[in-house]
Amino acid sequence: MSYDSSEILFERAKKIIPGGVHSPVRSFKNLDKSPLFFERANGPYLYSIEGKEYIDYCLSFGPLILGHQDPDVKLAVQEMFNKAWTFGACEPYSLELAEWIIKEVPFIEKLRFVSSGTEAVMSALRVARATTGKNKIIKFEGCYHGHVDSLLVKAGSGLAGESSTSSAGVSENTASETLVCPLNNISYFEQVLEREKSNVAAVIIEPLPANYGLLVQTKDFLHQIQSLCKKHGVLFILDEVISGFRISIGGMASLYDLDPDLVCYGKIIGGGFPVGCYAGKALYMDKVAPLGNVYQAGTLSANPIGMVAGLTTLQKLKSLNIHKTLEDNTSYLSDNLNKLFADKKQPLQCIHFQSLFWIHTKTTSPIRRPDEIPNQQSARFKQLFLNCLNENVYLAPNAFEVGFMSFAHKKEHLDKTISALGRALDLCI
Ligand code: PMP
Repeated sequence: MSYDSSEILFERAKKIIPGGVHSPVRSFKNLDKSPLFFERANGPYLYSIEGKEYIDYCLSFGPLILGHQDPDVKLAVQEMFNKAWTFGACEPYSLELAEWIIKEVPFIEKLRFVSSGTEAVMSALRVARATTGKNKIIKFEGCYHGHVDSLLVKAGSGLAGESSTSSAGVSENTASETLVCPLNNISYFEQVLEREKSNVAAVIIEPLPANYGLLVQTKDFLHQIQSLCKKHGVLFILDEVISGFRISIGGMASLYDLDPDLVCYGKIIGGGFPVGCYAGKALYMDKVAPLGNVYQAGTLSANPIGMVAGLTTLQKLKSLNIHKTLEDNTSYLSDNLNKLFADKKQPLQCIHFQSLFWIHTKTTSPIRRPDEIPNQQSARFKQLFLNCLNENVYLAPNAFEVGFMSFAHKKEHLDKTISALGRALDLCI
C-alpha cells in the first residue's frame, strides 16, 4: 500500500483528530512544518512515508532502549502472538516479568501492571491517599507525571507551594490538593512540608527530571527529600517512567541508593508495548484490590505481548551489560557535538546523563530548574531541528524533550549523526 505525502496525511488527520495527533508533542507545534508520517522503523532508523531514512533519537520518547524491532524482542513477541493476544485471565507471562523485577530491584516487594505511565502514577497516588488518610500531594515544578488531573498543575502565585491548574478541565478544587515546589531548593520544600505535613499523603518526583529539558538533581537533594518524607510520615514516590531500567535496572533509585515507598514505571518495562507498573513496599501495595480496598483494574492490564517484550528487553539489558555501552556511546556523541558547537561558534551545549541527552543554549552552570533555561531555547532548537531533519536525523520535535540512545545505535550511526549535525549547524544563524 502506498500513502500520500506527510502533508496530505496531516491535512486529513486534522479534520478528524484534535490537532491531527494522538499525543500533543507529535504535532511539530511551533516548528512551522507539518509532522512527518512514518511507515516503518528498524534498528536506529525511522522511514518516512516519503521513503526517507532518519537516524532516530526520539525512540518513541524512551521505550525503545534496544532500538526498533530488536530481533530478540521480535521473536518473543511473535511466539506470544501465536499463542494468544490477551487472556483477561491469569497467565504465567506477567508472573515471570514480576518475579524478575522483584529479584533485581531491592526496594520492590510487590507490584501491579497497568497499561501506561499515567495509570501507574494515578494508582500510586490513590494508594498513598488510602494509606495515610491524607489528601494532598507535593510535586516539583518542571516534573511531568502523565495527564493525571491532580498533577496537571503549575505553581500558583499565592502562598508557597500552592498551585493552579495547567490544563482546562482540571477543577481548581483538584489543583488545590497539589502543592508545587521548585526543584533543587530543599529549604523551600522543607518549609512547605513542615506547614502541610498533616495534610500531605505523598511527595512525587522524577528523580531525573527529563520532561522539561534534562534537569539533573543532586543526590543530596533527593536524599534530603526522602528523609523529610520519612520523618513526617509522608510517602516518597519516585516516578521512574523515563529513568526506570534506563539508568540501571533499578533506575535512579539504585544508582543513588534511594529507598522509595512506591515507584512508577512505564516505557522500557513494556519493551515498546503499552505497559506501566506501580510497585513498592508490600505494606502499601497490599492496600490494592482485591486484597485491599483501593480499587484499580484494567481490561488489558499485563497484556501478554507487552509482558514478553518487557521481560526480553530487561533480560537483554542485564545480560549484555548494555547500560555501559549506552553510556559510552552517549558520551561519545555528546563530546563530539560539543566540539562541533565550539568549532562552529554556536552558543549550544549538549549535556547527557547516561543514555539521555539534551541540547540547550550554553550556560555557565548546570540547569536544574525550568526558570534557569535561557529564553532562546525554542528559537535555537527550531532551526537545529529543521536542519537536522534535512540531514536525516530525527530529534524529538520539541526544545524541551530529551534525546535517547539505543543499543541499535552503533559507532557508524553516531559518526553519521556527528557529520550530519556539522552540516546542519552550518545552516543555523
Ligand atoms: N511520568 C513520566 C516521568 C513521564 O515521562 C511520562 C510520559 N512521558 C509519564 C509519567 C506518563 O506516561 P504515559 O505517557 O505512558 O502515560
